[in-house]
Order: sequence, then C-alpha cells, then structure tokens
Amino acid sequence: MPRLILCLILSIFVFSSCSGQDNERTPLILISIDGLKPSYFDKTDTPTLDSLAARGVLAESMIPVFPTSTFPNHYSLVTGLYTENTGVISNTMYDEEIGRYFRLSDRSAVGDGRWYGGEPIWVTAEKQDVRTATMFWPGSEAEIQGYRPTRWFTYDGGLPYEARVDSVLSWLQLEDETKPDFITLYFSKVDSEGHSHGPYAQETLDALTYVDGIIGRLVSGLHDIGYWDNVNILISSDHGMIDLSDDRLVFIDDIIDLDDVNIINWSPVVMIQPTEGKTGEVYDQLKAEESNYRVFLKEDIPERWRFKNHHRVPDIVMVADLGWTITSHSFYERRGILGGTHGFDNAYEDMHTYFMAVGKDLERGMEIPSFEVIHIYELMARLLNLEPAENDGDPEVLRDIVK
Ligand code: AMP
Ligand code: ZN
Ligand code: ZN
Repeated sequence: MPRLILCLILSIFVFSSCSGQDNERTPLILISIDGLKPSYFDKTDTPTLDSLAARGVLAESMIPVFPTSTFPNHYSLVTGLYTENTGVISNTMYDEEIGRYFRLSDRSAVGDGRWYGGEPIWVTAEKQDVRTATMFWPGSEAEIQGYRPTRWFTYDGGLPYEARVDSVLSWLQLEDETKPDFITLYFSKVDSEGHSHGPYAQETLDALTYVDGIIGRLVSGLHDIGYWDNVNILISSDHGMIDLSDDRLVFIDDIIDLDDVNIINWSPVVMIQPTEGKTGEVYDQLKAEESNYRVFLKEDIPERWRFKNHHRVPDIVMVADLGWTITSHSFYERRGILGGTHGFDNAYEDMHTYFMAVGKDLERGMEIPSFEVIHIYELMARLLNLEPAENDGDPEVLRDIVK
C-alpha cells in the first residue's frame, strides 16, 4: 500500500500526521533551581533528583555565562546567546539610550522588553503557534518582539512552591487551545539560603532537600494525570556559590575617590562609569593597587567572557578574585557581607552549575561532560520541534542526549 494512503488510514486512528511529526507535541518543562552547585549533592539527600538523573541525562556541570549572576544566565539559557548579545549584562544595569536603570526590585524595568535582546524560546514557540506558560523566569514578564508567553506572572518570591507546581499540573490538564507545550518553573530558595548562610551551610543543603521534595510533587502529579510517559523535563540552574569572609575585603574608597565615579553594579563585578574625563585617572589608580581583583578598561575586558561588546558595559570593570568582596567603608559598616555569593569569573569551578534532563525523548542513564549554558536553546528547539532563531549555541553539543 502506498505510504500516503497507509498514513491517511492510520491517522484516523492515532491522530498523527504524515509528516513524521506528532500532532500532539511532547510538553517540555524547564525548571530552574537558582544557585545550585553540583557539589551539594554529596552533602544532602536528594532522592527525587537522584532517581531522575539515573533515568535521564546528568551533566558533570554546566558552565554559566559571565557574569555568573541570575538574570544574565537565565536569559542566556532561554536565548542561546552570550551576554554581549542579550544585553542582559547584569542584575543591575544602566542604559543611556533607555535613560534609566534596570534593577530586580523595579517591576517596570523587569517588565520592559527594551532590556532584553535576542529571542527567548517562548517567543520562538509562540511565533510558531506553540503555546507557552511561565511560572516565573527572568524576561518572561516583558513583551519581546511583540510576543509574550500565553500565561505569565509577575515575579512573586513568596508564592508557595507547592502552588507553582500545582499550577503547572493544572495547565497540562487544560483541554482548550491555551494548553502549553513549553512551561517554566523557578525556585530561588537554594540561592537565597546560600547567600545568607554560605554554600555548605545546613540551611542551604536543607533548601536543596526541600526543593527536591517539590520536584517529587511534580513527578507524582505527572504520574497522576497520566503525563509521566509523555513529558520532557530539563532541570537547570544559573551559577554556583562561594563563601565570603571578613578576611577577604577590598575597600574601593581606599583606592579611588568615589566622587569621581558612578558605580552601577557592586561586587563581585564592579561596573564603574567615571565622571567626564576621569576614566584614565581612575583606571590608573585601580591598576596600581590591583590585588585580589582584576581591573579592565572596557576595550581590554577578556574576549572569552563574550561580555564587553555591548553599550551597557561601562568604561571600567573590576572583578573580585574568587571569594573576595569589593566594598566601601560606609557600606561595610552598615551592612557587613553576605555568607556567600556568585558573579565571579565563569572559569572558576565554584561558579559552575547543574544540568539534568529526563523524559520521553531523552537518553537514559547517560552522563555528559561539562558544557556551556548557551547550548540549551538549541536543545529545547529540537525537543519542541521548532525552527530556532539565530543564536550562539551549537546544536551538535547536546544532540546525542536526544533519542
Ligand atoms: P541574585 O541576586 O543573582 O542571587 O538573584 C536571585 C534573586 O533574583 C532571587 O532571589 C529573586 O529575588 C530574584 N529574581 C528571580 N527571578 C526574578 C524575576 N523574574 N523578577 C525579579 N526578580 C527575580
Ligand atoms: Zn541566581
Ligand atoms: Zn544569588
């Protein structure tokens, strides 16, 4: 029997098209556990993640973009672009063309599409008539290229994790045209405890065990609604975490006059815009004292960071060595330092992070070497059967993890 006729007959029974693609797409759930360091796994119980990794694909680690902070990395993950191509160069930035600051606490900035370059995967999907829903993700609150996720929410760190998971389960049970095939989930607790108490503190490890239980709730919910065999899940993160110490401080006001500069972003990546005509002098002063940090004029920032070629990067960038804090006397006296932080050079292993993939179309029991976060966009486009937008990732890097 000719293939076309066979297909037509079969399609009546199984609702599959003859193009070789399923009409029913396999939903993809992208999860972020912010600030998850792979070395935490040896120190606490993670029964859900361990069992998922055993039936999925686990990376030795994932290499973040520079700087190793939350917004740059989450947004590079969903676009496949380095920071110099997204423009999301930090959690706090200034743009002369927009004429204002971007800060995480500023809802109108976070929701303003002008800050976000490139094409996030939910825009790629919506453009191709695939519905998406985000239970938080950096960038998901903004209209980008005229598109938004079909369902999106203003970030609310206080929304219980159980409620986030239950929303995702309810979306998968929708029977109308808004049922999403791409979904995100975001959890900040491992990162926030890591900042407060340090990376290996009991509170931080307990937070991971707690989030592991929340992912367990998702997995059992997927079983209950009959989706467990028909879903792909990526569990990702954005950076690691390192202890800070009162013995590792650089006081910038001992080196330069703070009246000569505007400091846009503080430690560990200090973004400095000197006042008119002061760049050379400020740079020379910082360079003369260069110890426990490195300082660069914009044009000399290392190429490997793929960071410097964006107009939001100011004239001088100062980067603390791993575990050091650059501060000022007045700030330190008022606020002290955190237990831990991240943001440092992405070459440090302590800044590397976690990636695991499990589901219908993914290999089982596979371990893969470390890879860069910018390759995930191509993987997601492949899993969702979408034509990817131009990006910095290489589809070959994660090709073998797909069955
Ligand atoms: P970081 O300062 O790099 O550790 O960023 C982590 C923090 O970013 C989280 O604890 C949240 O408070 C915040 N955050 C995460 N997602 C969002 C979002 N979509 N909008 C605003 N803030 C967010
Ligand atoms: Zn983060
Ligand atoms: Zn953090």
